Amino acid sequence: MPTITHPYPVLRQRLLEQGYQAHAPSPEAAELDAEACREWPCEGCGHAGLTYRPFWHPTERSYRAVAVCGQCGRVEEF
Ligand SMILES: [Zn+2]
Repeated sequence: MPTITHPYPVLRQRLLEQGYQAHAPSPEAAELDAEACREWPCEGCGHAGLTYRPFWHPTERSYRAVAVCGQCGRVEEF
């Protein structure tokens, strides 16, 4: 999976500018991915439990799920 090096606020701003909205395509997807993030140890600092941030592009039907470490700020897209 690709790792994004810039901090989450930069990524979020870029996605919103591209037309993404800050929510998941469905409650089911949100629930599933949020659960995966909660059990995901950070590769940067080992902190267990990343924060799930979904982005959905309604016209392109593109889903970008992002996990953010609350401790070191590392960002993973999955
Ligand atoms: Zn971390």
